[in-house]
Amino acid sequence: MNDDRSASHPAPTMTSGEEAAMRLAGLRWETTVSEARLGPTTHRVIQPARAFTHATLHLHDRYAGISADKTDAAALAAAWWLAARSPRSIVHLPLRSGSACDAHDDARPHDLVLLHRTLGFRTADWKAVRGALTRPRPHTIEVGPEPFPELPDVEHHRIHHREFNDHLRWRTAADTLFVIGTRTAFDRQGHLFRALVEEAPADRSRYPATHWCIEVDLGRKGTDRRNPSMYLHVECCDRHW
Ligand SMILES: [Zn+2]
Ligand SMILES: [Zn+2]
Repeated sequence: MNDDRSASHPAPTMTSGEEAAMRLAGLRWETTVSEARLGPTTHRVIQPARAFTHATLHLHDRYAGISADKTDAAALAAAWWLAARSPRSIVHLPLRSGSACDAHDDARPHDLVLLHRTLGFRTADWKAVRGALTRPRPHTIEVGPEPFPELPDVEHHRIHHREFNDHLRWRTAADTLFVIGTRTAFDRQGHLFRALVEEAPADRSRYPATHWCIEVDLGRKGTDRRNPSMYLHVECCDRHW
């Protein structure tokens, strides 16, 4: 160990094949905040300041698929964290025009919107809201020190109870997939996004040929016809991760 050398070169040194561990805690995400007035209501919409250039969301029959690169993964995780904590905002991720990775003929590109159930937002209004956004102001999000801590076992068992209400609902309207929940509902599966940021890079460099993905449960297991079970599949792009 050469202390003098490390003092004059404080940045971590990377050897080939080794990556500096990425942390979700403290991650910064550049966004814009806009407003749209619709009748008596003003909607607050948060969007990424930089467009997604890789990730596209494709909606299939039983799942929605996103193929992510590292930049996408960080933005998705920061957006999920922000949405959990923003009961009065609509988090809008334009995901209709990225790369063709993960494209399928039968699947249509969709945007993703994350919002709280208590907002009572009518998804039928989304097209009008999206078209009426004004005054985008830059806003930097910094993910807090302990994002998505592990939940106690009792929390995981609660899902099997009939009165369990902290599942994520979903809807589609205007080429947009809406994921709607409580803070608990977003937080319950937040650890998946943390893994996407913190664990996928190391796993991918160790086993580059292995499929790496997260599956986020949407809807309710069983026979809820209004909100059937589906999932959001986010995979590391084989070619661009
Ligand atoms: Zn998968
Ligand atoms: Zn790709």
